Amino acid sequence: MRILKFFMNPALLAIMTVLASGCDFATAPKEEIHSDGKTMGTFYTITVVGDYPGGQKGLNRDAEEVLHRINKEISTFDKDSILSKFNNTSSTAPFRITQDMADVITTSIRVGAELNGAMDITVGPLVNLWGFGPKKDKNEENKIPTIDEIQKAKANIGLDKLHVEITKNAAYLRKDNPDIYVDLATVGEGYGADKLAELLDRKGVQNYMVAIAGAIRTKGVNNRGRDWVVAIEDPRNDQAVGQNMMVPVCTGGQAISTSGSYRNYLAKNDGKVYTHIIDPATGKPVNHRTVSVTVIGPTALWTDAMDTGLLVMGGEKALQFANERNIPIYVIMRNENNDGFEVHYSRAMQNYMQCE
Ligand code: FAD
Repeated sequence: MRILKFFMNPALLAIMTVLASGCDFATAPKEEIHSDGKTMGTFYTITVVGDYPGGQKGLNRDAEEVLHRINKEISTFDKDSILSKFNNTSSTAPFRITQDMADVITTSIRVGAELNGAMDITVGPLVNLWGFGPKKDKNEENKIPTIDEIQKAKANIGLDKLHVEITKNAAYLRKDNPDIYVDLATVGEGYGADKLAELLDRKGVQNYMVAIAGAIRTKGVNNRGRDWVVAIEDPRNDQAVGQNMMVPVCTGGQAISTSGSYRNYLAKNDGKVYTHIIDPATGKPVNHRTVSVTVIGPTALWTDAMDTGLLVMGGEKALQFANERNIPIYVIMRNENNDGFEVHYSRAMQNYMQCE
């Protein structure tokens, strides 16, 4: 059995940071402050151009505080988080949550609906069943769920089974039946990057880049006064995704994130490899030719929700969806002979691929 979690690999963040520094050597670079650490089972980095109140120490402290709070709110890997308590209660009465949780869940439900349920934060029972969630049984991990188990799990999945209720004084989450299980793993990193960006905005920072694994928020310019540049893979010149050329993408001070089916997978006892990206319609991990989708947009929560749904849809439908809505996306697919890769991007993406 083999499991690979690429997001545990700090190399990706290193590549992004190097490129983000820009390559205009004519201008003397401005001072930067960096902060990095572990969160959400992965790594984060923050680059601030100029000052931060309290310097690097202040930035480390404030960032850790924000990330700790988010984990205590939405981590399904922490059994004491507010979300875990909601998932574990058999009560279907309104359950008190924070306003931030209400915001992230409301946005996830809205984006999920736009994607026709291809991204669905109630997919948790299937994620757990296929061995990718926190509720995994190590001995069961390489077993393939039966059709009966998949059907049972599917009965508890659907964005219409989850309700956010906001009153004058508080926010609540309500589920239609006790077995609904909310999994915010797909949007959590983007949400975290947005919250770190919010912290930097509050402190008056004008130019920064924040990354939690593959979810990135940028603002302003880098230390050479140029647009932030993030690298995405171009696998066409190589055999294996992960050892490839990188394509520079200018973010235009926006968010960018990638969902990939090839970084986190399990080899099961039928000898086949299964990805952690589940199609809620079939109840099974996706197995089409599309291996990753990168999205640029206004917030990392939004791009992180979009990229998963577009990956589930598959490249052709994702590109049509993006072109109809003018969304910048970059898609990597296996070619039809399954001996190499193809890269496709939406019309709107072209504007971001011509960095000055
Ligand atoms: P993405 O593509 O962004 O998301 C894939 C994940 O979303 C899947 O793993 C699954 O959980 C879920 N998913 C699959 N299909 C769908 C679908 N169709 N619709 C919606 N969701 C889907 N991991 C650890 O190992 N240890 C930890 O302590 C830990 N703590 C975490 C704390 C927080 C607050 C969060 C948000 C995540 C944490 N994780 C932890 C999970 C880990 O970081 C996730 O694997 C990661 O968030 C998934 O992100 P990704 O970028 O790899 O994949």
